[in-house]
Amino acid sequence: GNNNLNAKLVLLGDMGAGKSSLVLRFVKGQFLEFQESTIGAAFFSQTLAVNDATVKFEIWDTAGQERYHSLAPMYYRGAAAAIIVYDITNADSFTRAKNWVQELQKQGNPNLVMALAGNKADLEDKRKVSAEATKAYAEENGLFFVETSAKTAINVNDIFYEIARRLPRA
Ligand code: GDP
Ligand code: MG
Repeated sequence: GNNNLNAKLVLLGDMGAGKSSLVLRFVKGQFLEFQESTIGAAFFSQTLAVNDATVKFEIWDTAGQERYHSLAPMYYRGAAAAIIVYDITNADSFTRAKNWVQELQKQGNPNLVMALAGNKADLEDKRKVSAEATKAYAEENGLFFVETSAKTAINVNDIFYEIARRLPRA
């Protein structure tokens, strides 16, 4: 079979949750304290080697503001994977994340690999969303869940590797 896979991946979630920062960490190994907000969406690509295959991620980093919501389907349609990002210090961002999960579930693509990232895990003292509750929610909804930090890099590469591993092979 073909061991080289192209996979469209979309990041969704509230503005400020850290979508662009996760991508910057994954693609360039960098972090910016003052990451500029995304206008519309930004595109990146990054290739990962997983076992005997390579996965080329075509990454759409969306803006997250409500006023761009109507554009979101353009980015998640045809996607093989989605990372839904919230900020563990912001309860509203978790509510927003659950809405994104619902919206994607309504699209009815059973092959879509969905990951939930509880970002800013370095800010434990400001935590508002418990990891245990989220874990239960993720299990109920068949999502892969990890807490990440774009700042310290914890679990950032891992989430992309796990997605690559879960992608259906041709
Ligand atoms: P986006 O709107 O979802 O793309 O969020 P950004 O990536 O623009 O990040 C919003 C703000 O949160 C920026 O000031 C980032 O530096 C900060 N940020 C992003 N990820 C983290 C993280 O893991 N830890 C901390 N402490 N700050 C973060
Ligand atoms: Mg952004």
